[in-house]
Amino acid sequence: MMPDKCPYCGEGFGPGDEINPGIQAAHTECCFRAGAGSLAHLQGRCSCFVAGSDEGDPPEMTKRQAARAALEYFRGLSMPAREALLTRPLLSEGGDHAYQA
Ligand SMILES: [Zn+2]
Ligand SMILES: [Zn+2]
Repeated sequence: MMPDKCPYCGEGFGPGDEINPGIQAAHTECCFRAGAGSLAHLQGRCSCFVAGSDEGDPPEMTKRQAARAALEYFRGLSMPAREALLTRPLLSEGGDHAYQA
């Protein structure tokens, strides 16, 4: 059963969309963003890495646009760079903003 909206961004599914079926179908970029964090998080600009930073999803983007920006950035990295990025130590363990849906 296919829901008619993505649970992360709230947008519908279009014919050209990449969809991650999972337990709950969602756009592939939205699944990625929910698990891996924002573009600022991937680039190490958020408060997980920089004390006092309030960088998050770019304010001018919709949730889905921001999710796509994060995924595109990640896809542009080499495998070792991806590996290093996903295993970085965080400044604060409570950097929950990065994983908010
Ligand atoms: Zn979505
Ligand atoms: Zn972060």
